Amino acid sequence: ARIDALRRTHIAEYPDFPTPGVLFRDITPLLRDAAALREIIQHWKTLLPEGVEYIVGTEARGFVLGAPLAYEIGAGFIPVRKAGKLPGRPAALRYDLEYGSAEIEIPENSLPAGARTLLVDDLLATGGTAAATLELTRRFGVEVLGATFLLELAGLGGREQLPDVPLSAVWTIE
Ligand code: 5GP
Repeated sequence: ARIDALRRTHIAEYPDFPTPGVLFRDITPLLRDAAALREIIQHWKTLLPEGVEYIVGTEARGFVLGAPLAYEIGAGFIPVRKAGKLPGRPAALRYDLEYGSAEIEIPENSLPAGARTLLVDDLLATGGTAAATLELTRRFGVEVLGATFLLELAGLGGREQLPDVPLSAVWTIE
């Protein structure tokens, strides 16, 4: 009940952002409140699988939430970045969006084959971002133990895009 209450008080809703018809969930009120942020990370930790060696977090809010989770559970953190920001020869994947496409990258030599890995992002909507992240992560030959989100928008079918990984979320709403 306490965790549920934090969603109502600490996630702001903005209609028609970034485009008309979208109700944007803004996590910055949660991030700025030290006690609430700590409470959420401590609770979130209890939802995660055992034995995670690496957290893979998606730019940009997956960095902000994934890094404290990694620190708490004693895992390393791997950033998934928008194309063009990583040096060397990152692993890259282009995927389709509703309009156009996007490209994401993971640092070269970052995930050892067989490593027990968990995907983290702030929000699961259609699942397109998470599905692309999963596909790119698996190219390293890792074991994906699950994907976890602060907020799951269940009405948008994101779960169906990730049929073969256990999903968890701090909050699930329609
Ligand atoms: P999907 O690919 O599942 O449709 O969208 C999820 C991705 O878009 C995540 O990386 C998430 O950060 C971002 N996203 C989509 N909608 C929202 C929203 O309402 N609030 C926030 N904070 N992120 C969103």
